[in-house]
Formats: sequence, structure tokens, C-alpha cells
Amino acid sequence: MDFQWTEEHRMIRDMVKKFTDQEVRPLAAEIDKKKELPQALIRKGADNGLTGIAIPEAYGGSGFGEIGYCIMMEELSHGCASFAITIAAHQSIGCMPILLDGTEEQKQQFLVPMAQGEKLGAFALTEPGAGSDASALRTTAVEDGDAFVINGSKIWITNGGIADVVILYAANDPAKGPRGGITAFIVPTDTPGFSVGTIEEKMGIRGSNTAELIFEEMRIPRSQVLGKVGEGFKNAMATLDYGRLGLGAAAVGASKEMLRLSITHANERKQFGRPLADQQIIQFYLAEMAARIYAMESMVYRTAAMADRGERFSRESAMVKYLCTEWQDWIVDKAMQVHGGMGYMTHMPIERFYRDSRINRIFEGTNEIQRIVIARDVLKKGEY
Ligand SMILES: Cc1cc2nc3c(=O)[nH]c(=O)nc-3n(C[C@H](O)[C@H](O)[C@H](O)COP(=O)(O)OP(=O)(O)OC[C@H]3O[C@@H](n4cnc5c(N)ncnc54)[C@H](O)[C@@H]3O)c2cc1C
Repeated sequence: MDFQWTEEHRMIRDMVKKFTDQEVRPLAAEIDKKKELPQALIRKGADNGLTGIAIPEAYGGSGFGEIGYCIMMEELSHGCASFAITIAAHQSIGCMPILLDGTEEQKQQFLVPMAQGEKLGAFALTEPGAGSDASALRTTAVEDGDAFVINGSKIWITNGGIADVVILYAANDPAKGPRGGITAFIVPTDTPGFSVGTIEEKMGIRGSNTAELIFEEMRIPRSQVLGKVGEGFKNAMATLDYGRLGLGAAAVGASKEMLRLSITHANERKQFGRPLADQQIIQFYLAEMAARIYAMESMVYRTAAMADRGERFSRESAMVKYLCTEWQDWIVDKAMQVHGGMGYMTHMPIERFYRDSRINRIFEGTNEIQRIVIARDVLKKGEY
């Protein structure tokens, strides 16, 4: 196993770090306050190749694969979770379904402009009655000539209100459920019958758009069925393997940022005549943060390498998502403790990271669901 960074990896990291330092971090507090991302920032991200970093060059991307994608997510997450999540929802769960199962024509028509950042993507699976049990979705797709007529709604869709293309999962045969009864569709958001409902107010990642989507007699031509009719649930689950891995990478970046700020604060702040860093309990907090980050980073890139080799990584991405996001929350909490009252004040980034961190244990499958995925796999195998 080779854990050496290549020249290419270093180049990606330097580029995204520079972008984060110059363009993202300075806007992060304002994005959180205004609850909106500037369009210009997404455009600049696209100009720097961020919207298609994992997508092959043949489809408009940079071709840096999952390792490149994870490096990008890590570096962006040092600066602003709202921006990182917008890019993630676009790329790892917006573009990836098309890369996995799209026809050549679909890839040229939709994936190329998405990878180049001309069109923003979203992934629409969750419904009011279908959260953890996503296969219980009620949105229907009824065949009518050369099209499907779609009726229903989705909730809490990241980028839903700003996307140009939505990957939509709907029931073509509700009786069959996830085995043959759910189909994926590529839906341009200017399709008649598509509308955006409530835009949610949230605790964290406030600059990330979270929307209700409504479909009324929306006709989607057969040419925009993604993969085979009835096999959409498989596409959704395979896509989430990538999404969960990316969330793990984001957790690594946010955690490194928290450790960096905590070290600075512990060295600068004096109490009882000495820097906080002289207190053993503070040293232990910093040590445990560093140790967990090392484990998180190791599992993220080991799994990204599996993905890039074309190996199955469902269990591994569930493990990455579960442990990295649990530890991210732990690390952000300890960072606030090291900062004391100052960490709680809104002029410091710690409280924003604290709020932004919490969603990661919930979306793309809660951490309870991740443990169900892992348990099923180990029980089936009977060993590690
Ligand atoms: C900000 C935000 C953005 C989102 N973005 C998207 C998006 O872009 N696209 C999309 O499709 N969805 C999106 N979602 C939806 C998200 O994926 C769901 O919220 C998540 O899957 C959990 O579903 P739920 O909230 O309905 O919780 P529920 O399913 O109601 O679960 C509630 C609690 O019960 C637990 N639970 C449920 N079933 C079990 C079980 N069998 N065993 C043990 N515990 C269980 C859960 O772990 C959780 O703790 C987003 C959600 C949020 C909040």
C-alpha cells in the first residue's frame, strides 16, 4: 500500500488551499450571516476546476478522481462548509449518478456542462415520508408514450433552489419498491411542471441552499431516464458511496482547521501566568484531536484509492462517514473548550464550525444508518 502523495496531489492541494485562503475564507462569516452564497464564488470555483475535479477529462472535468476530489473537499472545508457542501452536492451526488449510469449522449449533454460549472447539479431522493427509509418514496413516474409523467415532491434538497439539473428518483412501480420499482431521471429545472417550494432556514451550513421541490404533471422524455427503468435505487445507493466519502474528507479539513486554531489559541492565551498550552489537560485535548485526525485522514484516502481502482467501497464509505463525522463533532467541541468563552462568540469562526459540523451526522444517511450498512456487511461475511 502506497500512502505517498504524488506531485499531482500536492499541486491540487496547493491550488485549492490558495483558492480557499484568498476567495473562500474571507467570505465565510458573511455567507453564514446572509444565508446565501455569492454566484460569483461558484463561478470562480468552476473557473478553477472545482466543479469537475473528479470527473474524467472526456466529460469536461479535470480527471483527478476521488483522491483529487477528497483533497479538494478537505481544503475547502478549512474555509467554509456552506461552499464545500454546495460543490459536493453538485459534484459527488449531482454529477456522479450520470457518470455512473448515463449514456454517452446524456454525458455529453448534461455531464460536460455540469463538470465545467456551467450548470449546477442536485440529488433529489428524500421526501416527507421517506428519509432513512428512502425506498418508501411516493413521487410517481407514469409512462405515457415516449415520456414519463412525474407527480410528487422532495424535501431538503441541497442546491434544490439554485440547481440547473436535478437527479430525481421516482416510483415507476410502487409495488416493486427498491427492487425494480424506482427509476432515476435527469431533470433540467426549466422543465414545465417543475417548481421550487420552501427554502429552509437551518442551524448550520446556512449559505447552502436547502429546498423543497415540487413536480406537477412534469413530462420527462425517455431519453432522460438515467440507467434502466426500475434500477434507480441502485444508482442512488452507488452515488451515496461517493457522497459519504466526500463528507469524510470534509470532516478531515474542518478538524484540521479546528486543531490549527486551537494550537494558536493555546499558545497565545495566558491564564495563571502561563500559556494554556502548558496545561496538561489542554495538551491532551490537542493530542487526541491530532490522533483522531490521523485516523480520519488515513481511512479517507485509503477508501478514495479503492474508489479510484474501481473496487467496491460501500462498507468502507459508510465507515468513513460514520467515524469521521462523529469525530469531527468531537473535535469541534474540544476546539470550543480550548477557546473558552471566546470560542462561543460569533466573531470567532469556532461557533460557525460547531453549527456547520452537526449536519454531517444526519445527511447522506444518518450515522445510525451507516452502522446498519456496516453491520449487515460484517454479519454477511462473518468476519472483518
Ligand atoms: C441540510 C440537509 C440537506 C439535505 N440534503 C439532501 C439532498 O441533497 N438530497 C436528498 O435526497 N436528501 C437530503 N437531505 C435529507 C437527508 O438525507 C435525511 O434527512 C436523512 O437521510 C435522514 O432522514 P430523516 O431526516 O427523515 O430522519 P428519519 O429517517 O426520520 O430518522 C430520525 C432518527 O431515527 C433514526 N432511524 C431511522 N430509522 C432507523 C433504523 N432503522 N434503525 C435505527 N435508527 C433509525 C435516524 O438515524 C435518526 O436518528 C438533507 C437533509 C438536511 C437536513
